[in-house]
Amino acid sequence: MTIVTRFAPSPTGYLHVGGARTALFAWLLARRHGGRFVLRIEDTDRARSTAESVEAILQGLQWLGLDWDEGPLYQSSRMDRYQAAIEQLLRQGKAYHCYCDKQALEAMRARAMARGEKPRYNGACRGLKAPPPNAAAAVVRFKNPLEGEVVFEDLIKGRVVVANSELDDLVIARADGTPTYNLTVVVDDRDMGITHVVRGDDHLNNTPRQINILRALDAAPPTYAHAPMILGEDGKRLSKRHGAVSVMQYAEAGYLPQAMVNHLLRLGFSLGDQEIFSRAEMVEHFTLDKVGRAAAAFNPKKLLWFNQHYIRQADAAELARELAPRLDQQGTPTANGPALADVAEALRERAQTLAEMAQKAAMFYRDYAALDDKAAAKNLRPEIAEPLRAFQDRLRALEDWQPPAIHALVEATAAQFGLKLGKLGQPLRVAVTGAAVSPPLDQTIYLLGKPRALRGLERALAYIDA
Ligand code: GLU
Repeated sequence: MTIVTRFAPSPTGYLHVGGARTALFAWLLARRHGGRFVLRIEDTDRARSTAESVEAILQGLQWLGLDWDEGPLYQSSRMDRYQAAIEQLLRQGKAYHCYCDKQALEAMRARAMARGEKPRYNGACRGLKAPPPNAAAAVVRFKNPLEGEVVFEDLIKGRVVVANSELDDLVIARADGTPTYNLTVVVDDRDMGITHVVRGDDHLNNTPRQINILRALDAAPPTYAHAPMILGEDGKRLSKRHGAVSVMQYAEAGYLPQAMVNHLLRLGFSLGDQEIFSRAEMVEHFTLDKVGRAAAAFNPKKLLWFNQHYIRQADAAELARELAPRLDQQGTPTANGPALADVAEALRERAQTLAEMAQKAAMFYRDYAALDDKAAAKNLRPEIAEPLRAFQDRLRALEDWQPPAIHALVEATAAQFGLKLGKLGQPLRVAVTGAAVSPPLDQTIYLLGKPRALRGLERALAYIDA
């Protein structure tokens, strides 16, 4: 059997972390088994669905590298399929028109509550032979079986058993004829040959209803897997209160997609205590029985840790590609400076995000605005003026502009004045960068380039003189 999974977002907002995790699990299951991954846009709610949301969701999936084999299929273009299913159910006596108005339904609910029962539809119209006189437009309800139970083996939750007596007759078409969520999902899962429905456990209550409707349509229900919700660190369901929940917000903040995917995988999935998974390893090892039943918490610090790991591992050219637009945006022209890949190489150990890296990279493309007061006061003292000047002369004469040659000059100058390397290194760093922190000195000077490094030394000497 070819495994076919789907991701079925409602386009009413961006792709959020929870949706992305669901998509990842469905994608992994398909890839693991050489199956197909279908993207379906559930846009029947015309009032809340927008083209921008569709765009944002597609962009999020692309950024994460979750490619789909089919789709995007839009529910809004499949109305005739839903209509046909509703008519079939009506024709076969498996659904019926319900004429109860709002007041009647409210009274029904109130009576049920007064009896200490769940507020539910009591099947008043289930046996009607003809519409009542003066009946208004009717909704269509599914005739849920009255007896027995729905049993299914959820690949994450285990066996789920729900008595049919717990399920009332669900509205499958509104009075204006439009189909409702549980009907459209069922028709689509059937038509698209979905073998495995992977989704959040906020849909668990819908599943027995969907199974009953599928059976009424003579379709075999797929296998279900309901993943636990993602929580915030306070143990409450993840929401905007916890900070960024949109996947693309993380992209903008300078996270690599590999880091996000790795963190999302680990929200639920485990294989011993392995944390880092390459794409290939994920695909190789992913199974739903390794997804825990307990809800996992989204952990920004962990995500940052993954991000730093993947920044360290990334190809410098790839980092350069990511940095270029960021530097552009922050108004740092890079055309007349060092190669961005070299800058990325120098900074990768020091930046947890691409945003941080871009910010730090600026120093290699413009003279510093001012000497850092504290660093200057501490490091640029009169006794260091002569060594700085000697280094400046050597640097001016240097032809082999490479870090090892620059390093040799630092060593030679330190030796000349009987200084420990650090005693010269830190004043040099402050002189060329204006600040106390930078990548290794030889790399820093190399990246600054000769004219900028010399200008910095000049400024430091002027500061000491004054
Ligand atoms: N469209 C639904 C949602 O975004 C998902 C439906 C499903 O996966 O069955 O919550």
